[in-house]
Amino acid sequence: MAAMTRADGTDGRPPAHDRAGGVPVTVLHDERLDRAGVTVLLVRDDLVDPELPGNKSRKLKYNLVAAREQGHGTLLTFGGAYSNHLRAVAAAGRRHGFRTVGVVRGEEHLPLNPSLAYAAAHGMTLTYLDRDAYRRKHTEPVLAALRATWGDCYVIPEGGSNALAVRGCAELPAAIDADFDVLCCPVGTGGTLAGLAAGLRPGQRALGVAVLKGAGFLVDEVRELQRQALGAPTDNWRIDLDHHYGGYARRTPALDAFIADFHARHDLALDPVYTGKLLAALYDLTERGAFPPGTRLAAVITATAWP
Ligand SMILES: *Cc1c(COP(=O)(O)O)cnc(C)c1O
Repeated sequence: MAAMTRADGTDGRPPAHDRAGGVPVTVLHDERLDRAGVTVLLVRDDLVDPELPGNKSRKLKYNLVAAREQGHGTLLTFGGAYSNHLRAVAAAGRRHGFRTVGVVRGEEHLPLNPSLAYAAAHGMTLTYLDRDAYRRKHTEPVLAALRATWGDCYVIPEGGSNALAVRGCAELPAAIDADFDVLCCPVGTGGTLAGLAAGLRPGQRALGVAVLKGAGFLVDEVRELQRQALGAPTDNWRIDLDHHYGGYARRTPALDAFIADFHARHDLALDPVYTGKLLAALYDLTERGAFPPGTRLAAVITATAWP
């Protein structure tokens, strides 16, 4: 039977993020996992909102509320040229009626790459900061210069990670309609991990897989984000630093082979920057005996392809 739709084209229900049990979950069938007695569930957060896939929209949710409450009409944020965050802010701004300004690291290159072309097509004004100024982007002189150009605006940090982002991500665990022991996610800036850990039940743990090389500093970042959002860090998470495959947006033949094999077996195209490293890490850790038999891992597919 077809789903009921109302005259306005919606089903009359709140957005999926607000519904308990709103995230599709599938079980991976794979003899390598069976041998170790480990179950892996895929938490398909990438499917919840087709126009705004994945964790970036959770990170934005309460920032948009705050921007509106504070009377701002413009969102300004920062990102590298391949940033998913810039795309997400552009799409969310268009949907919710904000003007958006994206401050991009480095120089303009035309034609725009697919990430920046997507952001521009969704109404984002792009502006560029040289690498030196970009490094100081969160300091008052740089912010004052940006405000002088673009007017008063709600500033969202690079990657979207702040206390309000932690609050948004903390809603994901309760939306997973399945039992699990360890909730696993890729880690870029740490906001997602900070939030997921904050939303777990007692006894559950979170495991983040760093996608950057030399990312030990992320432990302090996640602690600090939790301190800002919750008052104190939680002690139910850890970060794996050994599965970055060469560093941010780098890849190796072994990672590429894993992603191709996973696609062939499970018909899911993992991305090489985040979710590919997450699943490759979970298989590697499983085969090394890092999880006791009977462990149920839930892997958050933070995003697959952008539309
Ligand atoms: C940004 C991003 C992450 C990392 O999230 P952080 O909160 O920055 O750690 C993971 N997966 C995908 C698909 C992303 O776009």
